[in-house]
Amino acid sequence: MDLSERFLGDLRAEFPAFRIVPKRRDPFSRAIDLALRLVTFNGQRHYLTHYHTVIGDTLYVPDTWDALADLDRVILLRHERVHLRQRRRYGAALMAFLYLVPFLPLGLAYGRARIEWEAYVETLRATAELCGLPAARDPQLRERIVRRFTGPDYGWMWPFRASVERWYDRALQELARDSGLEGAA
Ligand SMILES: [Zn+2]
Repeated sequence: MDLSERFLGDLRAEFPAFRIVPKRRDPFSRAIDLALRLVTFNGQRHYLTHYHTVIGDTLYVPDTWDALADLDRVILLRHERVHLRQRRRYGAALMAFLYLVPFLPLGLAYGRARIEWEAYVETLRATAELCGLPAARDPQLRERIVRRFTGPDYGWMWPFRASVERWYDRALQELARDSGLEGAA
């Protein structure tokens, strides 16, 4: 069995109501897409085509989901599992508040940035475990993730590049330490 299929089995055991819904055919996702285009002045226009989004127990997926390689799917699902656990930890109302209400003013959404950061640490951990520490240290991955915070993807949620890069370097150091590979790079 694919690793991702096995992982989905574990995920459904932990969250029995978990389901996957394609965004393109989903009216709710199309409404969110329109709202995001409006509040980011069209800076975020890839919601339907590039982004995986957990709301409640549902993972809304773009068209690219079907073509995703097995390991990439597991890495992505591990990120989304963090959001499912956050909702269980904080409750749906607080989670929505932290995530959505501070959406305005754009650019100072610290609550959302910390929620996303916790999930991206898991992205890095999953990448290191499944693809090796050098893959987690890939500068392109770093640039892609840092931009999620400083750019329009999530409404410029934390546009302070130096502070995001500091979080990032600390997470990589902890990963290296945990895997006993410190100094081996
Ligand atoms: Zn996320």
